[in-house]
Order: sequence, then structure tokens, then C-alpha cells
Amino acid sequence: MSEANAVTTEQLRLWDKRHVWHPFTQMQDWERDEQIIIVKGEGCWLIDTEGNRYLDGVASMWTNVHGHCRRELNDALKEQVERLEHSTLLGLGSEQSIILAARLAEITPPGLDRFFYSDNGSTAMEVAVKMAYQYQVHSGRAERSRFITFRHAYHGDTLGAVSVGGIGIYHTTFKPLMFETIQAPAPYCYRCELGCSRSACNMECINSLEELMVRNAGLVAGLVIEPLVQGAGGMIVHPAGFLKRVRDLCDRYDILMIADEVATGFGRTGAMFACSHEGVAPDIMAISKGIAAGYLPLAATVTTDKVYSAFLGRYSELKTFFHGHTFTGNPLACAVALKSLQLFQQDNLLAALQPKIARLKQGLAEFSAMPHVGDVRQCGLAAGIELVENRETGTPYPWEDKIGIRVCLEARKRGVFSRPLGNTIVIFPPLVISDSELDTLLSVLSESIRVITE
Ligand SMILES: *Cc1c(COP(=O)(O)O)cnc(C)c1O
Repeated sequence: MSEANAVTTEQLRLWDKRHVWHPFTQMQDWERDEQIIIVKGEGCWLIDTEGNRYLDGVASMWTNVHGHCRRELNDALKEQVERLEHSTLLGLGSEQSIILAARLAEITPPGLDRFFYSDNGSTAMEVAVKMAYQYQVHSGRAERSRFITFRHAYHGDTLGAVSVGGIGIYHTTFKPLMFETIQAPAPYCYRCELGCSRSACNMECINSLEELMVRNAGLVAGLVIEPLVQGAGGMIVHPAGFLKRVRDLCDRYDILMIADEVATGFGRTGAMFACSHEGVAPDIMAISKGIAAGYLPLAATVTTDKVYSAFLGRYSELKTFFHGHTFTGNPLACAVALKSLQLFQQDNLLAALQPKIARLKQGLAEFSAMPHVGDVRQCGLAAGIELVENRETGTPYPWEDKIGIRVCLEARKRGVFSRPLGNTIVIFPPLVISDSELDTLLSVLSESIRVITE
């Protein structure tokens, strides 16, 4: 027995409350309640110190792809750790990072061939923002320093990523520390801020976006967008065609399009990347969460030869991209990522996903009829169920009611782990979830919603 296993659950709970500050967590609540401590993973299940099993309904924060402790991935990791655990990309190449970039270049949208590694989604977006601006500088357009962003957007929690975000409750406190952006309305059709309804919508929000581009002509470096679905904003699924029109506008006004595929990448939407659904190739793309199948922190900011070339020059020209993170291109993470790509092929995962996406759609129909469900949104194997106090008027539950949290606590009692986004219940399981596990996930969530709201 390892030393860690020798520590009792009681001791772990005590130390956790005394020493571990959990993210996005009111620690006063955390310290008061009894917490679950996970020690094992098997497929789509997490197992706690007492042997209780929880279906991982949010793929361990949207990262897990092939299930927990998948044999092939474990072996790839073990194999790599016996050869090289880490070596820096500052001044040296490393085998796994090279092969991974070459393999990813084959599957990313056309033209995206240059990979800048980092280790999480926020840093991938920081890199994207700095890269876009420095590109403009090298192109003799230093006045193009502004970014167009969307309301309800989420791009991470470091300051640059927060600046291009648009979620009030997360971001308002830090306003004095942020740079200003040009914020466009999001195509949040259930609560359209332009007053349109889904049935009578000509994507008026695209006109608003174009107006902002015209008004700020010559001042915008890039536009930042989560393609198809704004994840942390509440699984806000955009109308078909929106992304393509954003791409067209970026072309027309010569603005770099930065796609944040951190949540959507690696199969989540039913294609390898969300952009592919609309035949869109962004100028810069950030990838992270699913890249190493949920095993290790890894991220990349991918761009075109055109953007990359603008950074080439004599050393003295100072065109170097002055950015880098210590664990950039970590060989262990890259080795797992490579094996994960192999599993996508070997398991025919994208094809296998299609019937599961259809099954999820069918299962969600039941939720739409529930008296406190305002909106049900799905994109691939991701879904959001927005709970409302009043279905007729769409009046939200007051956020202080913690309705989402309460539903998830109820689900936990029934062996499902989920984590809400405000009043929206999230479904975001590992891509390998079986039909029966998906059915369990849906039935537990619907029962939990019923218990809490009725
Ligand atoms: C999670 C997420 C991020 C931030 O990634 P971290 O690894 O948590 O820093 C950025 N963008 C999107 C769309 C995300 O879902």
C-alpha cells in the first residue's frame, strides 16, 4: 500500500479543508459540508475513498475523452516516463512535441500549421491575444490594438483571457485590471438582447457585429470567439451559419479571427474541431482541454504561415515572439496526446459518436417539457438545460438560490457527478460514454431537477 493510501478519509477531509483552496468555490460552504474525495477512475466513473462510484457527467471539467485510466493511454505515459519526463523547448527540440505538432497539423482546419505550445486553455488564449497584436505591429499597424469579443464569452482566468471574456459574475471584480475590448452581442437566442425570437431571426446580431467593425475600422487586431457553443457562458449554442458569417466579416474588415476551441476541440461537437462544421479556418486557434484526453495539462495556440512569417527577421529587428512557459511541450503530455489521436482512429470515435449524439438529443426532448426548464441546448455531446423560475416569462431563478448547485448535489446522491453553470445544468460526459451510462446520466439529472424544482 502506498503512503497516500494509508491516510484515512477523515484525515484527508481535514487536510483538504485546512490546506486546499478549491477553484470557483465558496470555501465557507466547502468547509461546512462533507466532501467527496476521489481516489480512482474507471471508464466514465470516479470512485471515492469509501468506494462510492460517480458517473463523471462533466468529463472532469470537460477534459476526458477516452475514459479514465484507459489502458493504452496509461501504457503510453509509462513508456514515455521511462525515456524522458521533461526537457525544455527553449533552445531544444523534443521528440514527442514535434511528432504531435505534425500529426495535429493534419487534422486542424486548413492552413493552421504552426504550433505554439503552452499548458492550459487560459495561456493558450493569452498567447493568441499577444500573437495577434504583435502580428499587427510587425505588419506596420500598431494602432490595431483592440479586440472584438462577445458577451457571455469565457476564455480563461488569467488577466488577458479575462479581458476578452464576457461573464459578469466572474469578471467584474477584476475590471480595473483588465484591458478594454469591444463587446458584441452574443447569439444567445433564448435571451436575445436584440429582441428576436428563434423563429423570426435574421441574425440581426451579425449586423451589430458589422457595425462595431465599421465604427472601429483600422483599430481592431482580432476577434475572439468560441466556435458554435459558448461553454462556460451556459452552453449557449449559436445558430447554424453564425460562425461562417463571422469569418466572412473578419475577412472583409481584415481582422484576425481567433477561435477558442479549448472546450469544443477533440470531438466534442461531433467533428474533430467545431470550426469544421461550417468549413471555417480561423487565423489563430487555441486548443487544450481534450488534447491530452484529460490526462495532463497541455495546450497549443495554432496559427498560419502568414501570421508566423510576420515574426521572422534579423535578431536585432526584435520580431521574436517574447513569450513562453516553463513546461511548454511537456513530453509526457505530448505522448499521451499522440496516443489519444491514435485511439480516435482505432476506435473510430467520431463515427461512434454520431448515434450517441442522436441518443442525447432524444433524451433531452423529455427535459423540454418540464415545468421549470426554460431552454434545452445541445451541440454534439455537450448540452445545457437552463432552469427558470417561470417558464412563460423566462424569469430566471435568483442566482443566490443556487438552483444549479442544488440539482447537482441531488444528482450526486444518485451517483452522478455534474457541475452547473449558474442556472444551467451541464451534460458533458467522456466521449466514450456508453448508451446505458448516457441513459443513467439523463434519468438521474431529470429526477434531480424534478426533486429540486417541483
Ligand atoms: C476552460 C476554457 C478555457 C480555459 O482553460 P483553462 O485550462 O481552465 O485555463 C478557455 N476557453 C474555453 C472556451 C474554455 O472552456
